[in-house]
Amino acid sequence: MKRSATFAETRQAVRELGGGPLGFVPTLGYWHEGHVALADRARDECGVVVASIFVNPLQFDQPSDLDAYPRDVERDAALAATAGVDVLFVPSPAAMYPTDPQTRVSVGRLAERLEGAHRPGHFEGVATVVAKLFAGIQPDRAYLGRKDAQQLAVVTRMTHDLSFPVTICPISTVREFDGLALSSRNARLTPGGRAAAVALSTGLMRAADAVEAGERSSAALAAIAARAMAGAPGVEPEYAEVANADDIEPVDEIHRSSFLAVAAQVGEVRLIDNLYLDVDGDRITPDRGTWLNRSSTVYG
Ligand code: AMP
Repeated sequence: MKRSATFAETRQAVRELGGGPLGFVPTLGYWHEGHVALADRARDECGVVVASIFVNPLQFDQPSDLDAYPRDVERDAALAATAGVDVLFVPSPAAMYPTDPQTRVSVGRLAERLEGAHRPGHFEGVATVVAKLFAGIQPDRAYLGRKDAQQLAVVTRMTHDLSFPVTICPISTVREFDGLALSSRNARLTPGGRAAAVALSTGLMRAADAVEAGERSSAALAAIAARAMAGAPGVEPEYAEVANADDIEPVDEIHRSSFLAVAAQVGEVRLIDNLYLDVDGDRITPDRGTWLNRSSTVYG
């Protein structure tokens, strides 16, 4: 696996490897099996795979959150190499933002609800850095997790609106043996917080059961998820809401593909999760994700 620190080095490395569609996996780093799942799919579908590791200051509304974000590039590099990544792009903040960026990408209404309402400027930061990465790396396909369903919608819409010739490929959420969605932030949970955090996914799986039993009301599904979080000591729920998967608009009855999103504070750590509901005609299929049969090896 090659390493690169600038867009020019990345494109040069890709040219030398040559051949086949270019797959791209953008990440903040501190890899776990969720990131590996994205890289695995890219490896299956593409001739060359580039992954990036960049803790993007533009998308952090709280400086303390940016400082506390876990980092371990050498361990990430070992995981990426095992997953078959060809080029690992690890730019410095100065390489990404040599001057204060005056041009920002704003994604309008998609960025206003759910995470956007709780993290001002977050999605503008995400859309701006992903636009830069697409322009600088020029991938054919980009792999993003459904774990961050609103981010996936924002990036998909930005790609369409700005005519980037990139196909966005969504990947199901990878979960711990008990259902907790893998997240780099889980590394910061205390043992008590880790035990309590499972309430987010427990509520989502109960909602999945209700969907399979015929429930179509968003309010009823949100109430199931909210109840599970409210009953868990140490979990401070922020929201449980259903949104349309494409435009993040509120939903009354599920008719089109949607997701039930939850967010909660668990001790010092803010966690999000969601249940994607795939609608095909009259059929609604909840995506429960891919469950590990053991604890994540990455952060134990
Ligand atoms: P992050 O480094 O957390 O920004 O995540 C980088 C990419 O990995 C994003 O597209 C995320 O949606 C995706 N991702 C994060 N956690 C998971 C997970 N548990 N399962 C699948 N994809 C994930």
